[in-house]
Amino acid sequence: MSFIPAKPGLVEQFSAIVGHANCIADDAGMQPYLNDWRGNYTGKALAVVRPANTDEVAELVKLCARTQTPIVPQGGNTGMVGGGIPDTRGNALVLSLGRMNRIRGIDTENNTITVEAGVILQALQDAAMSAGRLFPLSLAAEGSCTIGGNLSTNAGGTAVLRYGNTRDLALGLEVVTPSGDIWQGLKGLRKDNTGYDLKHCFIGAEGTLGIITAAVLKLFPQPQSSVTAFAALPSPQAAVELLGSMRAAAGDRLVAFELVSRVCLDLVLRHFPGTAEPFAERHPWHVLIELNDTMPDAPLQEMLETELGRALERGQIADAAIASSEGQARALWKLREDISEAQRLEGKNVKHDISVPISRIPAFIDKCDAALIAAFPDISLVCFGHVGDGNLHYNCGLPDQGLGKADQINSIVYAHVDESGGSISAEHGLGQLKRDEITHHKTKIELDMMRALKRALDPTGIMNPGKVL
Ligand SMILES: Cc1cc2nc3c(=O)[nH]c(=O)nc-3n(C[C@H](O)[C@H](O)[C@H](O)COP(=O)(O)OP(=O)(O)OC[C@H]3O[C@@H](n4cnc5c(N)ncnc54)[C@H](O)[C@@H]3O)c2cc1C
Repeated sequence: MSFIPAKPGLVEQFSAIVGHANCIADDAGMQPYLNDWRGNYTGKALAVVRPANTDEVAELVKLCARTQTPIVPQGGNTGMVGGGIPDTRGNALVLSLGRMNRIRGIDTENNTITVEAGVILQALQDAAMSAGRLFPLSLAAEGSCTIGGNLSTNAGGTAVLRYGNTRDLALGLEVVTPSGDIWQGLKGLRKDNTGYDLKHCFIGAEGTLGIITAAVLKLFPQPQSSVTAFAALPSPQAAVELLGSMRAAAGDRLVAFELVSRVCLDLVLRHFPGTAEPFAERHPWHVLIELNDTMPDAPLQEMLETELGRALERGQIADAAIASSEGQARALWKLREDISEAQRLEGKNVKHDISVPISRIPAFIDKCDAALIAAFPDISLVCFGHVGDGNLHYNCGLPDQGLGKADQINSIVYAHVDESGGSISAEHGLGQLKRDEITHHKTKIELDMMRALKRALDPTGIMNPGKVL
Protein backbone atom coordinates (compact mmCIF):
# COMPACT_ATOMS: atom_id res chain seq x y z
CA MET A 1 0.00 0.00 0.00
CA SER A 2 1.12 3.64 -0.45
CA PHE A 3 1.62 5.97 2.46
CA ILE A 4 1.03 9.69 2.59
CA PRO A 5 4.21 11.71 3.26
CA ALA A 6 5.05 12.48 6.88
CA LYS A 7 3.11 15.41 8.28
CA PRO A 8 5.12 18.43 9.45
CA GLY A 9 5.39 18.53 13.20
CA LEU A 10 4.93 14.77 13.61
CA VAL A 11 8.28 14.27 15.32
CA GLU A 12 7.38 17.04 17.79
CA GLN A 13 4.13 15.21 18.55
CA PHE A 14 6.02 11.92 19.15
CA SER A 15 8.37 13.85 21.38
CA ALA A 16 5.46 15.30 23.36
CA ILE A 17 4.28 11.74 24.14
CA VAL A 18 7.58 10.11 25.18
CA GLY A 19 9.59 13.16 26.24
CA HIS A 20 12.36 14.86 24.29
CA ALA A 21 15.11 12.55 25.60
CA ASN A 22 13.26 9.46 24.33
CA CYS A 23 12.54 10.68 20.82
CA ILE A 24 15.64 10.34 18.67
CA ALA A 25 15.50 12.00 15.27
CA ASP A 26 19.13 12.81 14.41
CA ASP A 27 20.95 10.52 11.95
CA ALA A 28 23.78 9.54 14.28
CA GLY A 29 21.44 8.78 17.19
CA MET A 30 19.15 6.65 15.03
CA GLN A 31 21.93 4.56 13.43
CA PRO A 32 21.99 1.66 15.98
CA TYR A 33 18.25 1.18 15.38
CA LEU A 34 18.44 1.32 11.59
CA ASN A 35 21.00 -1.42 10.95
CA ASP A 36 20.79 -5.13 11.70
CA TRP A 37 23.70 -6.83 13.47
CA ARG A 38 24.50 -9.05 10.49
CA GLY A 39 25.03 -6.02 8.27
CA ASN A 40 22.38 -7.14 5.77
CA TYR A 41 19.80 -4.34 6.19
CA THR A 42 19.97 -0.56 6.56
CA GLY A 43 16.77 1.47 6.81
CA LYS A 44 15.62 5.05 7.31
CA ALA A 45 13.11 6.47 9.76
CA LEU A 46 11.34 9.66 10.78
CA ALA A 47 12.34 9.00 14.38
CA VAL A 48 13.04 6.34 16.98
CA VAL A 49 10.88 6.52 20.10
CA ARG A 50 11.44 4.78 23.41
CA PRO A 51 8.11 4.76 25.31
CA ALA A 52 8.07 4.14 29.07
CA ASN A 53 4.75 2.33 29.38
CA THR A 54 1.77 0.81 27.58
CA ASP A 55 -0.26 4.05 27.64
CA GLU A 56 2.53 5.85 25.79
CA VAL A 57 2.66 3.04 23.22
CA ALA A 58 -1.11 3.33 22.72
CA GLU A 59 -0.89 7.11 22.27
CA LEU A 60 1.93 6.73 19.75
CA VAL A 61 0.01 4.10 17.77
CA LYS A 62 -3.15 6.26 17.75
CA LEU A 63 -1.14 9.16 16.36
CA CYS A 64 0.43 6.87 13.72
CA ALA A 65 -2.99 5.46 12.80
CA ARG A 66 -4.38 9.01 12.33
CA THR A 67 -1.43 10.08 10.20
CA GLN A 68 -0.92 6.75 8.36
CA THR A 69 2.64 6.51 9.68
CA PRO A 70 4.22 3.04 9.41
CA ILE A 71 5.41 1.59 12.74
CA VAL A 72 8.36 -0.78 13.12
CA PRO A 73 8.49 -2.38 16.60
CA GLN A 74 11.96 -3.22 17.82
CA GLY A 75 13.30 -5.14 20.83
CA GLY A 76 16.98 -6.01 21.17
CA ASN A 77 17.55 -5.88 17.38
CA THR A 78 19.15 -9.34 17.38
CA GLY A 79 16.77 -10.78 14.77
CA MET A 80 18.12 -12.80 11.85
CA VAL A 81 15.76 -11.73 9.04
CA GLY A 82 15.61 -7.91 9.09
CA GLY A 83 12.16 -7.85 10.77
CA GLY A 84 12.97 -4.95 13.10
CA ILE A 85 14.59 -2.68 10.49
CA PRO A 86 12.45 -0.14 8.56
CA ASP A 87 12.58 0.15 4.78
CA THR A 88 14.43 2.99 3.07
CA ARG A 89 11.49 5.39 2.50
CA GLY A 90 12.22 7.24 5.73
CA ASN A 91 8.55 7.70 6.72
CA ALA A 92 8.40 5.05 9.49
CA LEU A 93 8.51 5.34 13.25
CA VAL A 94 10.80 2.83 14.97
CA LEU A 95 9.17 1.96 18.28
CA SER A 96 11.85 0.55 20.58
CA LEU A 97 10.47 -1.28 23.64
CA GLY A 98 13.77 -1.28 25.57
CA ARG A 99 12.62 1.07 28.34
CA MET A 100 9.61 -1.10 29.15
CA ASN A 101 11.70 -3.52 31.19
CA ARG A 102 9.82 -4.06 34.45
CA ILE A 103 9.07 -7.43 35.98
CA ARG A 104 5.44 -6.76 36.94
CA GLY A 105 5.08 -9.77 39.22
CA ILE A 106 5.98 -13.37 40.02
CA ASP A 107 3.36 -15.85 41.25
CA THR A 108 5.21 -18.92 42.54
CA GLU A 109 1.99 -20.78 43.31
CA ASN A 110 0.68 -20.29 39.78
CA ASN A 111 4.24 -20.72 38.47
CA THR A 112 4.01 -17.60 36.31
CA ILE A 113 5.94 -14.39 35.77
CA THR A 114 4.44 -11.20 34.30
CA VAL A 115 6.91 -9.05 32.41
CA GLU A 116 7.02 -6.05 30.10
CA ALA A 117 8.08 -6.59 26.51
CA GLY A 118 11.46 -4.88 26.81
CA VAL A 119 12.80 -7.18 29.54
CA ILE A 120 16.09 -8.71 28.37
CA LEU A 121 15.80 -12.51 28.26
CA GLN A 122 18.74 -12.99 30.65
CA ALA A 123 17.16 -10.61 33.20
CA LEU A 124 13.96 -12.66 32.95
CA GLN A 125 15.87 -15.91 33.56
CA ASP A 126 17.62 -14.27 36.56
CA ALA A 127 14.31 -13.03 38.02
CA ALA A 128 12.85 -16.53 37.73
CA MET A 129 15.93 -18.02 39.35
CA SER A 130 15.74 -15.53 42.25
CA ALA A 131 12.23 -16.88 42.90
CA GLY A 132 13.54 -20.48 42.85
CA ARG A 133 12.09 -21.19 39.41
CA LEU A 134 13.32 -21.77 35.85
CA PHE A 135 12.36 -19.77 32.78
CA PRO A 136 13.71 -22.22 30.20
CA LEU A 137 13.98 -20.16 27.00
CA SER A 138 17.69 -19.93 26.23
CA LEU A 139 19.58 -18.74 23.15
CA ALA A 140 22.99 -17.30 22.43
CA ALA A 141 21.54 -13.76 22.10
CA GLU A 142 19.95 -13.88 25.59
CA GLY A 143 22.13 -11.03 26.90
CA SER A 144 20.55 -8.59 24.43
CA CYS A 145 17.29 -9.96 22.97
CA THR A 146 14.00 -9.01 24.65
CA ILE A 147 11.03 -11.17 25.58
CA GLY A 148 8.84 -9.04 23.27
CA GLY A 149 11.15 -9.95 20.37
CA ASN A 150 11.25 -13.61 21.49
CA LEU A 151 7.44 -13.76 21.49
CA SER A 152 7.15 -11.89 18.19
CA THR A 153 9.55 -14.32 16.48
CA ASN A 154 8.38 -17.36 18.48
CA ALA A 155 12.06 -17.96 19.24
CA GLY A 156 13.34 -21.52 19.68
CA GLY A 157 16.80 -21.95 21.17
CA THR A 158 18.39 -24.85 23.00
CA ALA A 159 15.61 -26.14 25.28
CA VAL A 160 12.74 -26.65 22.80
CA LEU A 161 12.99 -30.43 23.01
CA ARG A 162 11.91 -30.34 26.69
CA TYR A 163 9.98 -27.05 27.08
CA GLY A 164 8.79 -26.07 23.58
CA ASN A 165 9.13 -22.80 21.63
CA THR A 166 8.36 -19.38 23.14
CA ARG A 167 4.73 -19.87 22.05
CA ASP A 168 4.50 -22.84 24.42
CA LEU A 169 5.74 -20.71 27.32
CA ALA A 170 3.18 -17.90 26.96
CA LEU A 171 -0.12 -17.90 28.86
CA GLY A 172 -1.30 -14.34 28.25
CA LEU A 173 -0.39 -11.12 26.45
CA GLU A 174 -1.02 -7.40 26.62
CA VAL A 175 -1.07 -5.93 23.12
CA VAL A 176 -1.55 -2.48 21.61
CA THR A 177 -3.58 -3.07 18.46
CA PRO A 178 -2.99 -1.18 15.18
CA SER A 179 -5.81 1.23 16.09
CA GLY A 180 -4.12 2.08 19.40
CA ASP A 181 -6.46 0.10 21.67
CA ILE A 182 -4.98 -1.86 24.56
CA TRP A 183 -5.96 -5.55 24.65
CA GLN A 184 -5.60 -6.75 28.25
CA GLY A 185 -5.03 -10.47 27.81
CA LEU A 186 -2.67 -10.91 30.76
CA LYS A 187 -4.36 -14.01 32.17
CA GLY A 188 -2.22 -16.67 33.78
CA LEU A 189 -4.56 -19.51 32.82
CA ARG A 190 -3.55 -22.95 31.65
CA LYS A 191 -7.09 -23.73 30.56
CA ASP A 192 -9.29 -21.17 28.79
CA ASN A 193 -11.41 -22.54 25.96
CA THR A 194 -13.46 -19.42 25.29
CA GLY A 195 -13.20 -19.16 21.53
CA TYR A 196 -10.21 -18.14 19.41
CA ASP A 197 -6.98 -18.00 21.38
CA LEU A 198 -6.01 -14.48 20.34
CA LYS A 199 -2.53 -14.44 21.84
CA HIS A 200 -1.40 -16.90 19.20
CA CYS A 201 -2.16 -14.35 16.45
CA PHE A 202 0.50 -12.02 17.86
CA ILE A 203 3.10 -14.65 18.79
CA GLY A 204 5.33 -15.21 15.76
CA ALA A 205 3.69 -12.31 13.86
CA GLU A 206 6.97 -10.34 13.82
CA GLY A 207 5.22 -7.11 14.76
CA THR A 208 2.87 -7.11 11.77
CA LEU A 209 -0.40 -7.38 13.74
CA GLY A 210 0.20 -5.29 16.87
CA ILE A 211 2.70 -4.39 19.56
CA ILE A 212 3.21 -6.82 22.42
CA THR A 213 3.70 -4.70 25.55
CA ALA A 214 3.63 -7.37 28.28
CA ALA A 215 3.25 -11.13 28.81
CA VAL A 216 2.43 -13.76 31.42
CA LEU A 217 4.87 -16.64 31.05
CA LYS A 218 5.17 -20.14 32.51
CA LEU A 219 7.80 -20.97 35.11
CA PHE A 220 9.17 -24.45 35.88
CA PRO A 221 11.05 -26.16 38.72
CA GLN A 222 14.79 -25.60 38.60
CA PRO A 223 16.85 -28.62 37.59
CA GLN A 224 19.09 -29.81 40.44
CA SER A 225 21.25 -32.30 38.53
CA SER A 226 22.46 -32.63 34.97
CA VAL A 227 24.84 -34.63 32.82
CA THR A 228 26.33 -33.83 29.41
CA ALA A 229 27.88 -36.17 26.84
CA PHE A 230 29.33 -36.01 23.34
CA ALA A 231 28.92 -39.10 21.17
CA ALA A 232 30.54 -39.97 17.84
CA LEU A 233 28.34 -41.59 15.19
CA PRO A 234 28.62 -42.97 11.67
CA SER A 235 25.61 -41.11 10.22
CA PRO A 236 22.57 -38.83 10.81
CA GLN A 237 20.45 -42.02 10.66
CA ALA A 238 22.34 -43.32 13.72
CA ALA A 239 21.71 -39.96 15.44
CA VAL A 240 17.95 -40.21 14.85
CA GLU A 241 17.90 -43.82 16.17
CA LEU A 242 19.91 -42.80 19.25
CA LEU A 243 17.49 -39.90 19.85
CA GLY A 244 14.63 -42.42 19.89
CA SER A 245 16.30 -44.72 22.42
CA MET A 246 17.46 -41.82 24.63
CA ARG A 247 13.92 -40.43 24.67
CA ALA A 248 12.45 -43.80 25.54
CA ALA A 249 14.91 -44.16 28.43
CA ALA A 250 15.09 -40.60 29.76
CA GLY A 251 11.69 -39.13 28.82
CA ASP A 252 11.47 -35.46 29.73
CA ARG A 253 14.94 -35.57 31.29
CA LEU A 254 16.36 -35.30 27.76
CA VAL A 255 16.75 -31.54 27.31
CA ALA A 256 19.24 -31.24 24.45
CA PHE A 257 20.17 -33.42 21.49
CA GLU A 258 22.33 -31.43 19.09
CA LEU A 259 23.88 -32.65 15.86
CA VAL A 260 27.44 -31.60 14.94
CA SER A 261 29.02 -32.67 11.66
CA ARG A 262 32.76 -33.27 11.12
CA VAL A 263 33.03 -30.04 9.11
CA CYS A 264 31.49 -28.08 12.02
CA LEU A 265 33.83 -29.60 14.59
CA ASP A 266 36.87 -28.89 12.40
CA LEU A 267 35.78 -25.24 12.01
CA VAL A 268 35.51 -24.78 15.79
CA LEU A 269 38.85 -26.53 16.44
CA ARG A 270 40.52 -24.32 13.80
CA HIS A 271 39.15 -20.97 15.02
CA PHE A 272 39.00 -21.44 18.81
CA PRO A 273 42.45 -22.35 20.17
CA GLY A 274 41.20 -23.54 23.62
CA THR A 275 39.02 -26.28 22.10
CA ALA A 276 40.06 -29.94 21.66
CA GLU A 277 38.95 -32.98 19.64
CA PRO A 278 36.97 -35.07 22.16
CA PHE A 279 37.97 -38.48 20.74
CA ALA A 280 41.20 -40.29 19.81
CA GLU A 281 39.90 -40.86 16.28
CA ARG A 282 38.07 -38.59 13.85
CA HIS A 283 34.38 -39.38 13.23
CA PRO A 284 31.93 -38.05 10.60
CA TRP A 285 29.07 -37.08 12.93
CA HIS A 286 28.53 -36.25 16.60
CA VAL A 287 25.70 -35.46 18.98
CA LEU A 288 25.76 -33.40 22.15
CA ILE A 289 23.35 -34.84 24.71
CA GLU A 290 22.15 -33.25 27.94
CA LEU A 291 19.88 -34.76 30.58
CA ASN A 292 18.65 -32.97 33.69
CA ASP A 293 16.33 -33.64 36.60
CA THR A 294 14.74 -31.72 39.44
CA MET A 295 16.03 -34.31 41.97
CA PRO A 296 19.53 -33.46 43.24
CA ASP A 297 20.68 -37.10 43.30
CA ALA A 298 18.96 -38.39 40.16
CA PRO A 299 20.99 -41.26 38.63
CA LEU A 300 21.48 -39.44 35.31
CA GLN A 301 25.08 -40.51 34.75
CA GLU A 302 24.19 -44.20 35.15
CA MET A 303 21.21 -43.80 32.82
CA LEU A 304 23.36 -42.13 30.17
CA GLU A 305 26.19 -44.70 30.53
CA THR A 306 23.72 -47.58 30.15
CA GLU A 307 22.07 -46.11 27.05
CA LEU A 308 25.34 -45.13 25.40
CA GLY A 309 26.77 -48.62 26.20
CA ARG A 310 23.78 -50.23 24.46
CA ALA A 311 24.12 -47.87 21.50
CA LEU A 312 27.82 -48.84 21.24
CA GLU A 313 26.87 -52.54 21.14
CA ARG A 314 24.27 -51.85 18.44
CA GLY A 315 26.85 -49.94 16.39
CA GLN A 316 24.79 -46.73 16.61
CA ILE A 317 27.70 -44.84 18.14
CA ALA A 318 31.44 -45.31 17.72
CA ASP A 319 32.60 -43.58 20.90
CA ALA A 320 31.30 -41.34 23.68
CA ALA A 321 32.65 -38.89 26.26
CA ILE A 322 30.63 -38.07 29.39
CA ALA A 323 31.58 -34.84 31.20
CA SER A 324 32.68 -35.48 34.78
CA SER A 325 32.65 -31.84 35.86
CA GLU A 326 30.85 -28.61 35.03
CA GLY A 327 34.00 -27.38 33.31
CA GLN A 328 34.04 -30.43 31.03
CA ALA A 329 30.33 -30.01 30.29
CA ARG A 330 30.96 -26.35 29.34
CA ALA A 331 33.86 -27.43 27.08
CA LEU A 332 31.57 -29.89 25.26
CA TRP A 333 28.85 -27.24 24.84
CA LYS A 334 31.47 -24.86 23.45
CA LEU A 335 32.05 -27.27 20.56
CA ARG A 336 28.40 -26.79 19.62
CA GLU A 337 27.89 -23.13 20.51
CA ASP A 338 30.96 -21.79 18.69
CA ILE A 339 30.01 -23.24 15.30
CA SER A 340 28.22 -20.10 14.02
CA GLU A 341 31.05 -17.79 15.02
CA ALA A 342 33.67 -20.18 13.59
CA GLN A 343 31.81 -20.21 10.31
CA ARG A 344 31.59 -16.40 10.31
CA LEU A 345 35.36 -16.22 10.79
CA GLU A 346 35.79 -18.64 7.88
CA GLY A 347 33.96 -16.32 5.45
CA LYS A 348 30.55 -15.53 3.98
CA ASN A 349 28.10 -18.41 3.72
CA VAL A 350 24.53 -18.97 2.63
CA LYS A 351 22.55 -19.77 5.78
CA HIS A 352 19.45 -21.93 6.08
CA ASP A 353 17.36 -22.40 9.21
CA ILE A 354 15.14 -25.25 8.13
CA SER A 355 13.05 -27.96 9.75
CA VAL A 356 11.86 -31.36 8.56
CA PRO A 357 10.16 -34.19 10.44
CA ILE A 358 12.84 -35.85 12.59
CA SER A 359 12.35 -39.17 10.78
CA ARG A 360 13.22 -37.50 7.47
CA ILE A 361 16.43 -35.75 8.58
CA PRO A 362 18.79 -38.51 7.32
CA ALA A 363 17.26 -38.67 3.83
CA PHE A 364 17.15 -34.85 3.63
CA ILE A 365 20.86 -34.53 4.45
CA ASP A 366 21.88 -37.36 2.07
CA LYS A 367 19.88 -36.07 -0.90
CA CYS A 368 20.46 -32.36 -0.40
CA ASP A 369 24.22 -32.83 0.17
CA ALA A 370 24.44 -34.90 -3.02
CA ALA A 371 22.49 -32.35 -5.11
CA LEU A 372 24.59 -29.42 -3.86
CA ILE A 373 27.89 -31.23 -4.39
CA ALA A 374 26.80 -32.17 -7.92
CA ALA A 375 26.05 -28.49 -8.68
CA PHE A 376 29.01 -26.99 -6.78
CA PRO A 377 31.81 -29.56 -6.33
CA ASP A 378 33.86 -27.35 -3.96
CA ILE A 379 30.94 -26.40 -1.68
CA SER A 380 31.46 -26.66 2.08
CA LEU A 381 28.37 -27.96 3.92
CA VAL A 382 28.10 -26.90 7.54
CA CYS A 383 25.24 -28.90 9.01
CA PHE A 384 24.38 -28.73 12.69
CA GLY A 385 21.45 -28.02 14.94
CA HIS A 386 18.61 -29.07 17.15
CA VAL A 387 18.06 -32.54 15.72
CA GLY A 388 15.66 -33.28 18.56
CA ASP A 389 13.39 -30.55 17.10
CA GLY A 390 13.96 -31.52 13.46
CA ASN A 391 15.69 -28.13 13.06
CA LEU A 392 18.91 -27.99 11.07
CA HIS A 393 21.17 -25.04 10.45
CA TYR A 394 22.29 -26.07 6.99
CA ASN A 395 24.83 -23.51 5.85
CA CYS A 396 26.73 -23.51 2.58
CA GLY A 397 30.09 -21.89 1.89
CA LEU A 398 31.74 -21.52 -1.50
CA PRO A 399 35.40 -20.48 -1.60
CA ASP A 400 35.95 -17.04 -3.19
CA GLN A 401 32.33 -16.67 -4.28
CA GLY A 402 30.82 -15.00 -1.23
CA LEU A 403 27.05 -14.98 -1.59
CA GLY A 404 27.07 -14.82 -5.42
CA LYS A 405 25.45 -18.24 -5.87
CA ALA A 406 22.94 -17.79 -3.03
CA ASP A 407 19.84 -17.99 -5.25
CA GLN A 408 20.90 -21.26 -6.88
CA ILE A 409 21.92 -22.77 -3.54
CA ASN A 410 18.64 -21.69 -1.93
CA SER A 411 16.54 -23.20 -4.69
CA ILE A 412 18.27 -26.59 -4.30
CA VAL A 413 17.97 -26.56 -0.49
CA TYR A 414 14.36 -25.36 -0.42
CA ALA A 415 13.29 -27.91 -3.05
CA HIS A 416 14.60 -30.65 -0.76
CA VAL A 417 12.91 -29.03 2.26
CA ASP A 418 9.57 -29.06 0.39
CA GLU A 419 10.08 -32.66 -0.74
CA SER A 420 10.64 -33.61 2.93
CA GLY A 421 7.48 -31.82 4.13
CA GLY A 422 9.59 -29.21 5.94
CA SER A 423 9.71 -25.47 6.62
CA ILE A 424 12.11 -22.89 5.15
CA SER A 425 12.19 -21.02 8.46
CA ALA A 426 12.25 -23.16 11.59
CA GLU A 427 12.93 -20.52 14.25
CA HIS A 428 14.12 -17.22 12.78
CA GLY A 429 10.93 -16.01 11.07
CA LEU A 430 10.42 -14.43 7.64
CA GLY A 431 11.05 -10.70 8.18
CA GLN A 432 12.28 -9.10 4.96
CA LEU A 433 14.68 -11.91 4.13
CA LYS A 434 12.18 -14.67 3.34
CA ARG A 435 9.05 -12.59 2.67
CA ASP A 436 9.03 -13.27 -1.07
CA GLU A 437 10.48 -16.78 -0.87
CA ILE A 438 7.66 -17.99 1.40
CA THR A 439 5.09 -17.39 -1.34
CA HIS A 440 6.62 -20.38 -3.19
CA HIS A 441 6.31 -22.69 -0.20
CA LYS A 442 2.89 -22.02 1.31
CA THR A 443 -0.36 -22.93 -0.39
CA LYS A 444 -2.73 -20.28 -1.74
CA ILE A 445 -5.17 -21.10 1.06
CA GLU A 446 -2.49 -20.53 3.70
CA LEU A 447 -1.40 -17.23 2.16
CA ASP A 448 -5.02 -16.08 1.73
CA MET A 449 -5.77 -16.81 5.42
CA MET A 450 -2.64 -14.94 6.52
CA ARG A 451 -3.57 -11.94 4.34
CA ALA A 452 -7.16 -12.00 5.64
CA LEU A 453 -5.89 -11.95 9.23
CA LYS A 454 -3.57 -9.03 8.41
CA ARG A 455 -6.43 -7.08 6.75
CA ALA A 456 -8.78 -7.78 9.66
CA LEU A 457 -6.39 -6.63 12.40
CA ASP A 458 -4.44 -3.97 10.50
CA PRO A 459 -6.71 -2.75 7.68
CA THR A 460 -4.55 0.26 6.82
CA GLY A 461 -1.31 -1.74 6.92
CA ILE A 462 0.68 0.49 9.28
CA MET A 463 2.15 -2.34 11.37
CA ASN A 464 5.64 -3.27 10.20
CA PRO A 465 4.90 -3.04 6.46
CA GLY A 466 6.98 -5.16 4.09
CA LYS A 467 7.63 -7.88 6.66
CA VAL A 468 6.26 -11.45 6.57
CA LEU A 469 3.69 -10.69 3.82
C1 LIG B 1 24.02 -14.88 18.51
C2 LIG B 1 22.56 -15.09 18.19
C3 LIG B 1 21.99 -16.32 18.42
C4 LIG B 1 20.63 -16.52 18.15
N1 LIG B 1 20.09 -17.76 18.40
C5 LIG B 1 18.78 -17.97 18.16
C6 LIG B 1 18.20 -19.25 18.46
O1 LIG B 1 18.84 -20.17 18.91
N2 LIG B 1 16.86 -19.38 18.23
C7 LIG B 1 16.10 -18.36 17.74
O2 LIG B 1 14.89 -18.55 17.55
N3 LIG B 1 16.63 -17.15 17.44
C8 LIG B 1 17.95 -16.93 17.64
N4 LIG B 1 18.50 -15.71 17.35
C9 LIG B 1 17.67 -14.67 16.71
C10 LIG B 1 17.10 -13.62 17.71
O3 LIG B 1 17.86 -13.54 18.85
C11 LIG B 1 15.67 -13.94 18.06
O4 LIG B 1 14.89 -13.82 16.90
C12 LIG B 1 15.07 -13.03 19.14
O5 LIG B 1 13.84 -13.61 19.53
C13 LIG B 1 14.83 -11.58 18.70
O6 LIG B 1 14.56 -10.78 19.84
P1 LIG B 1 14.83 -9.19 19.79
O7 LIG B 1 14.35 -8.60 21.06
O8 LIG B 1 16.25 -8.92 19.45
O9 LIG B 1 13.88 -8.77 18.60
P2 LIG B 1 14.17 -7.79 17.35
O10 LIG B 1 15.30 -8.32 16.55
O11 LIG B 1 14.28 -6.40 17.82
O12 LIG B 1 12.81 -7.97 16.54
C14 LIG B 1 12.47 -9.19 15.94
C15 LIG B 1 11.07 -9.08 15.31
O13 LIG B 1 10.09 -8.93 16.33
C16 LIG B 1 9.40 -7.68 16.20
N5 LIG B 1 9.23 -7.18 17.57
C17 LIG B 1 10.18 -6.97 18.51
N6 LIG B 1 9.62 -6.61 19.66
C18 LIG B 1 8.28 -6.57 19.47
C19 LIG B 1 7.15 -6.28 20.28
N7 LIG B 1 7.29 -5.96 21.57
N8 LIG B 1 5.91 -6.34 19.74
C20 LIG B 1 5.75 -6.69 18.44
N9 LIG B 1 6.77 -6.97 17.62
C21 LIG B 1 8.02 -6.93 18.13
C22 LIG B 1 10.27 -6.81 15.32
O14 LIG B 1 9.50 -5.88 14.58
C23 LIG B 1 10.91 -7.86 14.41
O15 LIG B 1 10.03 -8.20 13.37
C24 LIG B 1 19.86 -15.48 17.60
C25 LIG B 1 20.45 -14.23 17.39
C26 LIG B 1 21.78 -14.02 17.67
C27 LIG B 1 22.37 -12.67 17.44
